[in-house]
Amino acid sequence: MIPVVALVGRPNVGKSTLFNRLTRTRDALVADFPGLTRDRKYGKAELDEHEFIVIDTGGIDGTEEGVETKMAEQSLAAIEEADVVLFLVDGRAGLTSADEAIAKHLRSRDKPTFLVVNKIDGIDADCACAEFWKLGMDGMYQIAATQNRGVTALMERALAPFAENLKKTSGDEEMQIEDLTSVEDIEKANLSEADAEAAYKRLQEQPIKMAIIGRPNVGKSTLTNRILGEERVVVYDMPGTTRDSIYIPMEREGQEYVLIDTAGIRRRKNMNQAVEKFSVIQTLKAIEDANVVLLVIDARENISDQDLSLLGFVLNSGRSLVIAVNKWDGLDNDVKERVKSELDRRLGFVDFARIHFISALHGTGVGHLYESVKEAYQSATKRISTSLLTRIMQMAQDDHQPPMIRGRRVKLKYAHAGGYNPPIIVIHGNQVNELPGSYKRYLMNYYRNTLEMMGTPIRIMFQNSD
Ligand code: GDP
Ligand code: GDP
Repeated sequence: MIPVVALVGRPNVGKSTLFNRLTRTRDALVADFPGLTRDRKYGKAELDEHEFIVIDTGGIDGTEEGVETKMAEQSLAAIEEADVVLFLVDGRAGLTSADEAIAKHLRSRDKPTFLVVNKIDGIDADCACAEFWKLGMDGMYQIAATQNRGVTALMERALAPFAENLKKTSGDEEMQIEDLTSVEDIEKANLSEADAEAAYKRLQEQPIKMAIIGRPNVGKSTLTNRILGEERVVVYDMPGTTRDSIYIPMEREGQEYVLIDTAGIRRRKNMNQAVEKFSVIQTLKAIEDANVVLLVIDARENISDQDLSLLGFVLNSGRSLVIAVNKWDGLDNDVKERVKSELDRRLGFVDFARIHFISALHGTGVGHLYESVKEAYQSATKRISTSLLTRIMQMAQDDHQPPMIRGRRVKLKYAHAGGYNPPIIVIHGNQVNELPGSYKRYLMNYYRNTLEMMGTPIRIMFQNSD
């Protein structure tokens, strides 16, 4: 499971600077969900081989009376849901009562917490840091987020417990093909061509991990219940903590699935529904852990920024995607037309995803979702040989020549796979970096249609070889 790192501290200590540093060029998902402050940010970050989710908890201002009561409930939730907390203080401003109030709260939680003294650039760091020992934290890390000083060392330390896990799997030389349960594992294992083929074949026979996500009230639990009700599955909770989604194994028409339920239908039985909070972190973790994401949208609401945020995160993760437009029952035809044209207009950037119009309440259209989920999974895990990629590239070029650039025709020479899940295709040729966007899209669609790869994003990279 991907670790979650929460950045905590009073305003102005440098949380967003560190957040941006960690998530770098990757787009941060700025969440605007009910119950969350507008500036709360979630982003995916990478350090060496590790991926992790960073939350900028924002909003905590310990200067208010009684930090326990005043801390926004969601900030507290973020701390609870994090695997590691980075508690930032300002080395230039020195210790404040707000820092002490936050420290007191953190000490009462049983969370791995790192005290991080920021802004140590251009000051006598050891001297400035001395007073922060009063906060009673176990250790202290000195960084300058703006200079990227000390950040890698800090993160290596903070993520070390998760690094152990990573090493255990990839360092094993006796790796069996049966142990390779994801495309990433297979690619990392450096197998021979024949072994890789066998591993991919095996992978395609694995249960498909399917996450049902969407903002509150779109009908996720209704859909989950509908799916489970129809399939008469044996439901049991996989081990995990309360903050995790529920994993439900099921089978349909000979295909095994594991449904990742972010709505928490099982929990709702014992819990007042009003108490149930929509958890962005839980959703992000479910996306990361899924093979295919089933995004549920409400036909009776306009497509919102929240829907687009979630889509952005799915895109960023490279996961396969199927979209279910729910509550399609009882709508007038003109409303249906309006919804469809809005989807066309606003969801053009995910045109690889199949869209289904369903009613989770009545079950209409739900059965067809599986076909698309299966198709999306097969597409994402399909192994494509260099010769096939090159042949398709050649066909595309013969059907429609690339343009002339500075009096010279762009020539595509060969293509090969650059990665999987999502599939990456690397095309070599001369002047290929100058290809106009329209031709790049043409190539993308050509590959998609020829390889019949629906449901998964495809990335094409160009390599100049003049
Ligand atoms: P936040 O409110 O905790 O998110 O703090 P910000 O990230 O917005 O930073 C507050 C201010 O501190 C900004 O003006 C940053 O440029 C500055 N700052 C952040 N990190 C550093 C640092 O390492 N050194 C210095 N000198 N300034 C920093
Ligand atoms: P969740 O928060 O995404 O899990 O949403 P729920 O499954 O709790 O559904 C929210 C509300 O929408 C409930 O009142 C459902 O009865 C209603 N709902 C869900 N699916 C449908 C549907 O297909 N059609 C209609 N008309 N209402 C639905």
